[in-house]
Amino acid sequence: MAKILDQPRYKCAMAAMQTVQAITRALPILHAGPGCAEKLGGSIGSSGYFSPHIFPCTNISEKEVIFGGESRLQETVANALKVVDADLYVVLTGCTPEIVGDDSAEIIRTFQNAAKPVIFASIPGFKGNNYLGHEWVLQALIEQYLKPVPDKIKGLVNIWAGLPMHDPFWLGNLRELERLVAELGLTPNTIFGHDRGIANIAKITAAEFNLLVSPWVGLSSVRLLQEQFGTPYLHYPTMPVGASETSKFLRAAGAFAGVDPGVTEAVVARHEAEYYYYIERFADIFLETRVMAKRFVVVSDAQYALAFTKFLVNDLGLFPAKQYVTDDTPVEHQEAVREYFKELNHGIQAEVGFSSDGQQLQEEIRNTDFHGYPLILGSSWEKKLVRDLKAHYLTISWPIIERLVINGSYVGYHGGLKLLEDIYSVVLTRFN
Ligand code: SF4
Repeated sequence: MAKILDQPRYKCAMAAMQTVQAITRALPILHAGPGCAEKLGGSIGSSGYFSPHIFPCTNISEKEVIFGGESRLQETVANALKVVDADLYVVLTGCTPEIVGDDSAEIIRTFQNAAKPVIFASIPGFKGNNYLGHEWVLQALIEQYLKPVPDKIKGLVNIWAGLPMHDPFWLGNLRELERLVAELGLTPNTIFGHDRGIANIAKITAAEFNLLVSPWVGLSSVRLLQEQFGTPYLHYPTMPVGASETSKFLRAAGAFAGVDPGVTEAVVARHEAEYYYYIERFADIFLETRVMAKRFVVVSDAQYALAFTKFLVNDLGLFPAKQYVTDDTPVEHQEAVREYFKELNHGIQAEVGFSSDGQQLQEEIRNTDFHGYPLILGSSWEKKLVRDLKAHYLTISWPIIERLVINGSYVGYHGGLKLLEDIYSVVLTRFN
């Protein structure tokens, strides 16, 4: 039975226009009503070339619902090609044109000889949320834009991780993953954010392999790349945060790429020496500041819930209460995600709840005995709960309304230290 969702943690699939906006000089064209565009045009930036508030839209209304919106779409795309200087035009269809039966794919086919490429992704909100919408946009790119290349480029690796814009740390995380992979002597290739974009999209099919760092988002895209272009992929489900996971990540990526283990171990040793130098310097704080309960909870998408649970258990020695995954993980991926939460050090396992209903999951957290003031990592929706529980609290997940994240990241050795800084900056306020 349909039910009302309290405190949404994601948007409708059409918010995947942010995936397009994260590609410099790619332009989303919405085939949707003005309400969709108004709701989805956020203020959290783009790749920098187009304002996230400016994009062509067919603005369909009653007339198109009755007579169809195909001619309106034709006209809008033709005009966008004339007046907006982009390198890639991505038409995104919302609920209304899909329901009234517009053949948008056919209209877009009429632009196949246009001066610039025009592709099309069907991402109506009734089909799913923006985590799935992101996949559908990538699939459109793979199926309609990418071309095979005769030769692979040695050492070139495509990296896929996180949801552009929706994940507040998406860009910083991607850049840190690039740096880590580069230290293995490989050449990272990403398509989102500053100085990447179309030129890097052209290199996707030349990569030796795809590296997916995500529990489930992006899996169908790397599988499609393998199917269509024969590019193998490494699925690494845990976003590496802190020394334990980052060293494991480097070893897994290095082994998959055939990097000399001696090279990988040298990178790991150098980073760990520096990482533990900092940990030792501040060990007093971590060991003596016992005001924080040993038990914690993360309320976020599968990517962060898993990554932070592993970090807090394996690196910080905390113990997980039930963790909450709020991205509406498709049922076919839930078992695998549940298993990842069992791969914690010392045989520790975390129970996982898949729930997007804020009221229900917060009620469960309220009824959990944390044996002290808990640590809660979540979104701004958790603010009231945190106040009531006198918890230590860090916002790490959409929606975040009281933090500005520009290129911050929690990935890697540096990311682990940054997370410790952020958590203990909160903990210390209890005394000061
Ligand atoms: S759910 Fe459909 S109608 Fe609503 S904003 Fe998304 S695409 Fe538009």
